[in-house]
Amino acid sequence: MKIGILGAGQLGRMLALAGYPLGFEFAFLDPAAEACAAPLGERQRADYQDRDALEQFCAGIDLATFEFENVPEAAAAFVAARVPLLPAPQALTAGQDRLGEKQMFESLGIPVPKFAAVDSREGLDTAAQHTGLPAVLKTRRMGYDGKGQRVLRSASEFDAAWDALGGQPLILEAFVPFEREVSCLAVRGRDGAMRFYPLVQNVHRNGILRTARPRAGDALQTLAEQYATRVLQHLDYAGVLAFEFFVAGGSLLANEIAPRVHNSGHWSIEGAECSQFENHLRAIAGLPLGGTALRGTCAMVNFIGTAPPLEALAALDGVHVHLYGKLPKPQRKIGHATVTAADDQALETRLAALQALLREDD
Ligand code: AMP
Repeated sequence: MKIGILGAGQLGRMLALAGYPLGFEFAFLDPAAEACAAPLGERQRADYQDRDALEQFCAGIDLATFEFENVPEAAAAFVAARVPLLPAPQALTAGQDRLGEKQMFESLGIPVPKFAAVDSREGLDTAAQHTGLPAVLKTRRMGYDGKGQRVLRSASEFDAAWDALGGQPLILEAFVPFEREVSCLAVRGRDGAMRFYPLVQNVHRNGILRTARPRAGDALQTLAEQYATRVLQHLDYAGVLAFEFFVAGGSLLANEIAPRVHNSGHWSIEGAECSQFENHLRAIAGLPLGGTALRGTCAMVNFIGTAPPLEALAALDGVHVHLYGKLPKPQRKIGHATVTAADDQALETRLAALQALLREDD
């Protein structure tokens, strides 16, 4: 079976790496000069709006998926009319607009921080009356890794925030003084079967994920699974979906979903019975889903901007290195390591050895 992937970044790369042992082949479409999945399959370098390129992409594959949520709607519809595209385009639409996403959560009875649409400078004042301050002003579309966001603590900051972000649809959200951030990695097969990974505790800095640590037995596991189930069923979803939550007042507030494999699930390559990447492929190919239980204990650390020398990383026991083949650049995810251990104490020791190699600004 040949699977086409829209996007050829590190997620596409890890999907292909998980798929070759199953006998799958891969093709990618991505306009970027640097596309780190390109060595792992046929790669067409073309714009997502290029109909000839899309036609050619579809001609050579049995089924298609995507590795990023900002695939243009028209491109998704074009592909879906020719080969099965999974998850289906409605999942893309649901995740592309922060406002529509929050409204969907509300309609499914999933708690969210207070929010309001902002379409004008005056609208920002009105929205802030609803959300209160502090609040976070975000672009509704195309934001990722904290880009296109401003925290507003007083009305005196509104003009500058509007100057920086205005002129495009925005959303204002109440700032959540969260106790922690967690994500639920869920997978649903074409037959409707579902599995859930243990809740992952995530730490961000400057809006970028730094570490992700799954823990079995989190008190909020069942609630997160219930919320994820509502979204999966509502979207008639096939594949892996990541659901990010704030934990506040001991309960969950929905932040956002990503209709794809997710950085907070990378640990599953070595740390789970079946990785998020293999499970995504199983789900879209109509295979039975793999086990989501932990194998021992683990944590993932991102390499942001730079990575420690491979020789130093390779000298550490239980540190599984993934370098994406991307050029180092400030604030850019260029790789990660998953640290595995038999128990929490051994994990702490190994994590400390890894942290000692990371630079302060990494
Ligand atoms: P997002 O792209 O919306 O996931 O935002 C990136 C990160 O910014 C989140 O993981 C949080 O750490 C922080 N953040 C975003 N929205 C809020 C909020 N409403 N309250 C507090 N922190 C937030």
